[in-house]
Amino acid sequence: MTKRTYVNFKVLKEHVSLEQVLTHYGLMPSLTVKGDRVSGCCPICKSQNQTSFRGSLTKNIWNCFSSCSGGNILDFVRLMEDTDIRGAALMIQEWFNLDTRSLMREAKGDQKKKTKSVPETESELDLAEAPPEPEATPQSVNPVLTFELKSLDPEHPYLFERGLNSDTIQEFGLGYCNKGIMRGRIAIPIHNRKGERVAYAGRLVGEPTKEKPRYKFPQGFEKELELFNLHRALPHLPAQPLILVEGFFSCIKLWQMGYPTAVALMGTSLSESQLEDLVELEGPEGSIHLCFDSDQPGIEASTSIAYRLSQHMYVRTWPLPRPDIGPDDCTREELAALLP
Ligand SMILES: [Zn+2]
Repeated sequence: MTKRTYVNFKVLKEHVSLEQVLTHYGLMPSLTVKGDRVSGCCPICKSQNQTSFRGSLTKNIWNCFSSCSGGNILDFVRLMEDTDIRGAALMIQEWFNLDTRSLMREAKGDQKKKTKSVPETESELDLAEAPPEPEATPQSVNPVLTFELKSLDPEHPYLFERGLNSDTIQEFGLGYCNKGIMRGRIAIPIHNRKGERVAYAGRLVGEPTKEKPRYKFPQGFEKELELFNLHRALPHLPAQPLILVEGFFSCIKLWQMGYPTAVALMGTSLSESQLEDLVELEGPEGSIHLCFDSDQPGIEASTSIAYRLSQHMYVRTWPLPRPDIGPDDCTREELAALLP
């Protein structure tokens, strides 16, 4: 039996540039370089269009306007080599002779020196939030989960207390988990836009403490890369308008109330990656409806996110009828009066 080789995607992306990868393939001479931009024929799909392939040497991302979409260095190598993300990562690790395990440990050591303060707020997802650093926005994908949490209890009283019915609980695959890292929590499966399961979030049943945050995400999962519920919303777009909310339960409850196009940020911050996905989904003719919680963090987030999105599309914000509630606390009538 061979031991599975360790590779850390994030560390690779931090240590290997797009230019290094293009150089490895001997592609740099055939590309036009202007400042930090490169362009040329796409080496993946071999499109003859001279500008089909474009990359940014500082952001280390690329796009193909013919057929390959785009991404980071891992996506590039994955498509060049016709492999999966892990296969691509292993190749890059070998080409550039990197030890991602020790690099990651070094990085962790550095992080510990900077003491992090956790803001004390009442927001639903507060403890899961760390303010994103715009420069360090990860440009990757979350790997698809290879396991499924079995024996989740879909009849746990907490779910009904949140006003969910059994159809909804089943649709979203929710259930109480009594073992493993999600022990004592409601497990909430998170899918990518293709509907592949990429993680479980765990909502604590009971009051959160410093050691037990309200929400728990698995290590290595980057929630900044996903919009919760997007795969269920997609078939209804653009016939119905996209509704952006903060939390899982807002999204799930809206779905139950007949709003299938709600997607959740899983917090109060909009990452660059989520912004790009929304812009791509909606386009300049598109519109988006913000329905955030009516507590202070929700109101502030709603204002700044509305501003950022409004640079790209039509944005409408929907203030909730009472303070300190989420859309999931609203009655059917209140929502009907509120939402498009
Ligand atoms: Zn291409």
